This record gives sequence, C-alpha cells and structure tokens, in this order.
Amino acid sequence: MLRPQADRGLSASGEPPQPRGVQLLHDPLLNKGTAFTEQERDALGLRGLVPPRVFTLEEEVQRALGSLRRKPDAIEKYIFLTALQNRNETLFYRLVVDHIEEMVPLIYTPTVGQACLEYGSIFRRSRGLFISIKDRGHIAEILRHWPHEGARLIVVTDGERILGLGDLGALGMGIPVGKLSLYTACAGVHPYYTLPITLDVGTDNDRLHEDPFYIGLRQRRVRGEEYDAFIAEFVAGVRAVFPKALLQWEDFGNTNAFRLLHDYRSRLCSFNDDIQGTAAVALAGLITALRLTGGRLADQKLLFLGAGEAGTGIADLFVAAAREAGLSEADARARCWFVDSKGLVVQARGDRLAEHKLPYAHAHPFLPTLVESVKTLQPTALIGVSGMAGGFTQEVVAEMARLNARPVIFALSNPTSKAECTAEQAYAWSDGRAIFASGSPFAPVEFNGVRHVPGQGNNIYIFPGVGLGALASEAREVTDGMFLAAAQTLARLVQPEDLALGRVYPPLTMIREVSLQIATAVAENAYAHGLAGQPRPDDVQGDIRARMFDPVYPNYA
Ligand code: NAD
Repeated sequence: MLRPQADRGLSASGEPPQPRGVQLLHDPLLNKGTAFTEQERDALGLRGLVPPRVFTLEEEVQRALGSLRRKPDAIEKYIFLTALQNRNETLFYRLVVDHIEEMVPLIYTPTVGQACLEYGSIFRRSRGLFISIKDRGHIAEILRHWPHEGARLIVVTDGERILGLGDLGALGMGIPVGKLSLYTACAGVHPYYTLPITLDVGTDNDRLHEDPFYIGLRQRRVRGEEYDAFIAEFVAGVRAVFPKALLQWEDFGNTNAFRLLHDYRSRLCSFNDDIQGTAAVALAGLITALRLTGGRLADQKLLFLGAGEAGTGIADLFVAAAREAGLSEADARARCWFVDSKGLVVQARGDRLAEHKLPYAHAHPFLPTLVESVKTLQPTALIGVSGMAGGFTQEVVAEMARLNARPVIFALSNPTSKAECTAEQAYAWSDGRAIFASGSPFAPVEFNGVRHVPGQGNNIYIFPGVGLGALASEAREVTDGMFLAAAQTLARLVQPEDLALGRVYPPLTMIREVSLQIATAVAENAYAHGLAGQPRPDDVQGDIRARMFDPVYPNYA
C-alpha cells in the first residue's frame, strides 16, 4: 500500500513503465539518471539520451556527494539537494539515508530556516500545492490538480510561525517540503504518497510586502470567520479528494494551532507536530533520564520556561503518562509549572491567561522570576521552550544542582542561538551532574576529565514513526495514547552505552530502526483500540517493514 511502483505495475508486472524516453528522465520518481541498464536503454527508448557508461546507484551517490561537498555554504547545498530531489528522488533519498547525520541539518533545521527566508529568490520549481484565500470555493478542484493519485500524507502550514522565525507567509513552503522528505528518509514513507501544502492567507510581515521576489499574496493576514471558513473548506476538500490521508498541521500561529488541532483531530485524521511530536520527544528524554536519576515518573516536578505550543504540549503528555503511572489528573497537573514572559503562571495573575495555560495556573502566590520559582517550587526537571537565549542562568542551574543529585536540564529552544543555556554551561554550572538535552545539536563536552554527550531532543525521532504507523494501520485518528506509546518506545531504544555518555536519545544513525519500532507501537495501539481501518496482520512489524520505501532502483526491463 505504501509502495506505488507495484500499484503502477512497474516492478510487479515486469512490463516496461510508462512514460518512456525523455519523459521518463523527467519523472523524478522513475528516473535512474545514468544508471539505466543496457536492456532498459533499449526497451525504453533511452539510447542517446543518456551518456554511454552505465553507473551504479552507489557510484551516483559518490558523485553527488562530491558535488555537494564542493558547495561553499549550507544554502548552496540546500539548493543542490533540492534540485537533485526534483530530478531523481531515488538518488536523493539514497544519499540522505546513507549520510543521515550530514544531510538532516541541510534538508531540515537549521538550513531550512535560511531556505525559507530566501524561498522567493532561490525558487526554481514548484513542489507541492499552494492554495490561497483567493481560491475559496475551488479548493477541492485545486487538490485534484495534484498529479499523484491518493496522497496519504499531507503536511500543511499557513506560514504564520515558521520555526523561530515568525510569519513568513508563503515562504513557509520549505517546511512541509522538508518535513515530508524526513518522513521518507527516516521512516520510508514512499515519496509518491506525500503532499506538501501551503495555505496562503496573506502575511503580516511588512518586509515581505516590500520584497520584489515574494511569492505569496501581498496582503495582510485574513483572520476570524473568513479564515475559519477557508480552513473548513480545505478540510472538507482533503476528506473528499484524499479520504485516506493523514494530515500534519505544521507551524501555525499559537492561537490557531491549538484551535485547529482541537476542532479537527476527531473529524480528520491529523496531528500537530509542534505540540504533540515535541511532547513525545521531550517525554521520552524525561523517561530515559529517570534511568540515570533512579526516580519515578509520578514523583517528578517539571518547571517550564515558556508556556506555548511546545511547553503545554509536553505537560499534557506528561499528565497522560503520570495518569498511566497511577496519579489522578489533578495530581499530575499539579506537578507541571510554567514561567512565561510575565513570570510564574498562577491563578492570581492579573492578566488574562491564554486558554492553553489555564489547566496549569495553580493556586499559588505569584513569583516574578525563574530563579525564585526554582527556589520555591524545587523542581526535578527544568524544560526550556521559551526561545529565550540565556534563560537558564548560572544561578538557576546551580540552584537545580543544589536541589537534585542529577538535575534534568532540557534547553529545547531552537536554533542553537536561542537555547536557554549551552551544553557546556549546563555541565559546568552543575558540577558535571546535569542530564542535559537540547533542541539543536551541541558538540560533546569534556568536563573534569569526563566526556558528556548532549542528547538532541529532535522531533525527527517521533513524527516519521508515528506517521508510518498511522498510515500502515490506516488509523482513523492519531491519539495522545499513540504519542505516549511513541515516547515510551523511543525511551526503550536508548542503549546502556548511550546512557553511559549521558545521552538520553539514540544516535541519529539508528533513525530508520527507531521509526520502525515506533510505527509498530502506534499501529498496535490503533489495532488494540479499534481505530485501525484494516484488520491486524499477524506480523505487524513485518507488515510495516515490508511497506517501507528503500531507495534502490527498480529493474524496468
Ligand atoms: P510559542 O511561541 O508557542 O511559545 C513560546 C512561549 O515562550 C510563550 O509562552 C512565551 O510567553 C514564552 N516566552 C517568550 N519569551 C519569554 C521569556 N523571556 N521568558 C519566559 N517565557 C518567554 O513557541 P513554541 O512552539 O512553544 O516553541 C518554543 C521554543 O521551543 C522554540 O524556540 C522552538 O524552537 C522550541 N521547540 C523545540 C522543539 C524540540 O526541541 N524538539 C520542538 C518544538 C519547539
């Protein structure tokens, strides 16, 4: 089901594929570049259209890698990789899969942020669908323009809150494109089934209105009823045109992100990675940290700096996990505390708190700073999701180390320049005792003769596996229970040798195995809760493994 070559009769029937000749070379899903065999060249009308020597896929990878490494900077490498993806997807994914640690920062964060900022000027060829507010009344028709039948995985953004960069309008397209590339590289979702979409409702970023190469609508963002009606038509269109699709809401602004997830998750199989994926990866880090501290989940007290999508998402999933461990919902919520830009989130605060903060606004005197909150509340873990560089000061970290033998310090804000503290600071200020993880990668740190390897709490560990599991089981809904299962699975995959280095996540080189295990847990959850759209196969993991796209060339002749 996730392998369209067979559906399209390419490898299954042994028939020569359609198209042939130059058209075949221009189809990135079928193109083999210089690797078409002698027989294929005869059978498919390719003689003369490609140079005489037949290369192997491995040789093509080496050639592409050489060209890539000669590019002077990350954005040039991004442009090169995008062009390769648009020309030959098998080669692109082989390169990415075989060199995953080198490629992920180029096709996703941090380079994708820069790529989005420059998306207008580096624009070469459209990928995915752009649907603007001016298309109202015609959205289903536009979805039908997509050339591949039966998209199964859609990532959609309205560009309002792209990474930490804010409102980038239509330039945000780099994010759905990048995320879907990760689904394919990390979890083997076939690229044929992936569909990136940008909803253009305008932008409130004045710089873009003045940019001569801006690719989106030059108008202010549509909000309120008109926006809601547009989204409702979009959702109805997706359900009608791609009834089996799983949709990921991506990089929507704070108010819309919570609302859309809440309003649509039971009507359209969908989830929000910024909220739920982040939650699962952070919870996995916490569960793993307990193997180092020796503590129990239900005894933890979490203090968050930042009360947005990431922070409240993590707290909500922690509550689900603590309930599973025996706490009541109220007791579990009482273990999560938030400091936002105005101070400790408490009931007594004069300002009107946003709805997503209310469940964590406890009856407690107001405290204006993080350090006072640490001293008073005595948390076991400090989680930074504020986008505020330097938020974890030496005083804060030292206080955490005074309170805890192994303080958990997660500085998750991206990019690296926004992290609440650096890995080096966390280890130095805690006398080498911190269990540290970050959103962006930090190099290993040597402190007092001990080597510490910071874990990277990258959502890439979670969403590809969740998506694959949901697709393979044809889940009707993606539930919090599935994210909890994903977090527990990820935590289980951390090996003793990782823990010995203080690393609370597996190395990225294990990503396809991690995704497979998570997909299995998610699919099992769907089968167990009656949410699967197909009968449970005897061997769930074998079934999923067989569906994973492995970038190798099929034999056409
Ligand atoms: P958001 O805009 O929804 O929330 C940010 C929150 O931080 C808000 O509550 C805001 O009030 C608070 N804040 C801002 N300045 C502050 C300050 N000076 N002191 C205290 N609080 C402050 O954003 P989000 O989606 O929750 O993301 C927050 C950060 O988390 C971003 O930097 C993002 O890169 C990072 N993040 C990391 C991961 C990961 O590591 N896997 C995943 C998602 C988000």
